[in-house]
Amino acid sequence: MRKKIAAGNWKMNTNFEEAVQLAQSIADTNIPEDVTVILGVPFVYLQKIKGITNDNDKIFVSAQNCHQNENGAYTGEISATMLNSIEIPYVILGHSERREYFSETPLLLKDKVDIALKNGLNIIFCVGESLDIRKVGKHQAYVCDQIRQSLKGLTSEEMKSITIAYEPIWAIGTGETASPTQAQSMHKAIRQYIGELFDRKVAENISILYGGSVKPGNAREIFSMPDVDGGLVGGASLKADSFIDIIKSF
Ligand code: PEP
Repeated sequence: MRKKIAAGNWKMNTNFEEAVQLAQSIADTNIPEDVTVILGVPFVYLQKIKGITNDNDKIFVSAQNCHQNENGAYTGEISATMLNSIEIPYVILGHSERREYFSETPLLLKDKVDIALKNGLNIIFCVGESLDIRKVGKHQAYVCDQIRQSLKGLTSEEMKSITIAYEPIWAIGTGETASPTQAQSMHKAIRQYIGELFDRKVAENISILYGGSVKPGNAREIFSMPDVDGGLVGGASLKADSFIDIIKSF
């Protein structure tokens, strides 16, 4: 069964006090029965936020990245093994900011996916095209290729741990949103491609989230599209009120 997911990506935002307050407000919320909430929080707050949200079985915490190696001399990095050892259930991989600012390639991301799965993590795997690619009409092929390069070869069982987040780069943090129709047509293409790469059951069961300037004012319409199973939300997840509105938009 496909999950309805409202995921927040806090990125490199909030100080400790703000993070605690934000998580507390979300933990105090009456989350609709069939909705799963995931909070992508900075590494240093993971354990604290996990503690705050632990009693609510609809809220999960997520790391925003992990290293591609199990351990070793990689000063400043965090491994999937470490995340597993403190029982963090999710990690976001392939965010366009990581691809762009940290030169993460599809092949590097394949290694990250493999190590995250080996360590029992669920993955929110982000894909999305730039405006230039969309303008020349190659967006579907581009996004499907991102999926192929990093996920091909996973088993159907492993695919149960994967959630896809389609995030057109031109809509991230820009205030510009893909129209519900644009989102639906990409999500449908992704689901179809996953059906070809794996099988129909995998395609039917995988949750595909939309990300890119989701806010309370547009979430309901976007989430109502048949192949959109929720959202990965940046800016609007930093304010309790707006994120809670989004959680209630399904
Ligand atoms: C994101 O960074 O994942 C994102 C979707 O950001 P925003 O909602 O701010 O566009």
